[in-house]
Amino acid sequence: MNRIVILGAGYAGMAATVSLAARTARRDDVHITVVNADDRFTERLRLHQTASGQQLADLRIRHLLDGTGVEFVRGWVTGVDADARTVRIDDGRSLEYDRLVYALGAVADTAAVPGVDDHAYTLNSAYDAELLARRLADLGTGTLAVCGGGLTGVEAAAEIAERYPDLDVMLVGRQEPGSTMGPKAKAYVRGALARLGVRVLSGVEIAKVRPEAVDLAGGDSVPADVVLWTSGVRVSPLAAAAGLRVDERGRIVTDHALRSVSHPQVYAIGDAAAIRQRYGTMHGTCQSGMPTGVHAALSIARELTGRRPGRFRFGYLHAPVSLGRRDAVVQFTRPDDSPGRLCLTGRAAVWYKETVSSSPWPSFARLKTFPSAGSFAWRRGGRYTR
Ligand SMILES: Cc1cc2nc3c(=O)[nH]c(=O)nc-3n(C[C@H](O)[C@H](O)[C@H](O)COP(=O)(O)OP(=O)(O)OC[C@H]3O[C@@H](n4cnc5c(N)ncnc54)[C@H](O)[C@@H]3O)c2cc1C
Repeated sequence: MNRIVILGAGYAGMAATVSLAARTARRDDVHITVVNADDRFTERLRLHQTASGQQLADLRIRHLLDGTGVEFVRGWVTGVDADARTVRIDDGRSLEYDRLVYALGAVADTAAVPGVDDHAYTLNSAYDAELLARRLADLGTGTLAVCGGGLTGVEAAAEIAERYPDLDVMLVGRQEPGSTMGPKAKAYVRGALARLGVRVLSGVEIAKVRPEAVDLAGGDSVPADVVLWTSGVRVSPLAAAAGLRVDERGRIVTDHALRSVSHPQVYAIGDAAAIRQRYGTMHGTCQSGMPTGVHAALSIARELTGRRPGRFRFGYLHAPVSLGRRDAVVQFTRPDDSPGRLCLTGRAAVWYKETVSSSPWPSFARLKTFPSAGSFAWRRGGRYTR
């Protein structure tokens, strides 16, 4: 029996699970187990909507896996022994594997600045976003400081400002909002935030978060009743503790086929992996995470039939950013994620963003029946990745 254990059923882990189940459906010597913290699929792309009090669809992982033969284990992974090839779950169980797919994702880095862990809310999980939603619903008026001027910070600040017009929303961070976009999209982001009444404080370094303020390097303080932290990226320490080779951020370093360079029976995908392309190390997104899952499944299916796995090539296509429910901007990109000349704004961008955000779950259902459809679903990057 080939025992394949997949850790994490997020965007990358789900894509790997359904693709692999479909590709090995005719074999009776393959057993796939997927472990996830929750029964419900977390639409991370929409957690800013959860934080502003919107109910998301109830997407049940077990239902999607019906008929695939995959064993679903709800539990928290507490350890991996990469030499003994076992995984420990918080209920005391130990799972043995021949191949492991590591897809535990990443979260905002709440350890980088003192006070964040104790006093700031995050969008790290559905539970965290619901905690913030409850706090905001009780707050009425007051100041919310959204820390981190990246795209997650922009989406959260806009969504919450639109939902709570009486709240004073501030976006605080090093980068200017939309700094990774082209001039037109960046100006559009600035205009939309101004229209929604979001105050922007950029070019600052946050030194400390206190219960009622954010302290800046240089001595100034920004009073805040609630602080939301969206800055930085942190991965689970499990991979490093398991002795897998990791990069400076703790992500598993992979080879061209997405296998760990130190333990080739371990595939690493999604935000938890440090994947090199010719243009540099990929940064975590859903648009890249799902292809890594599909590719890992294809590679494992090839290995099971004695063939060599192929090289993973990926080029970015777009950065769709919501600006509340009624506005959005989409920056189209070059394969290396630098901004291209084209961008969409307004109603067309709202439609585009919604189409992208709602596509993963139906895509998983499609991959169950047509696994090869997944292989055509992303940009390979042309000369940028050759
Ligand atoms: C508010 C917000 C908006 C975003 N918007 C966009 C966007 O517009 N476009 C885009 O491309 N990206 C966006 N992202 C980033 C995107 O969500 C991530 O890149 C993507 O989720 C990565 O997929 P993944 O499968 O690697 O990890 P995840 O989707 O995070 O899945 C990891 C899974 O592992 C589980 N898990 C973690 N640790 C354990 C453990 N120890 N035991 C058991 N289970 C565990 C988690 O519960 C989760 O189900 C956004 C992120 C946020 C927070």
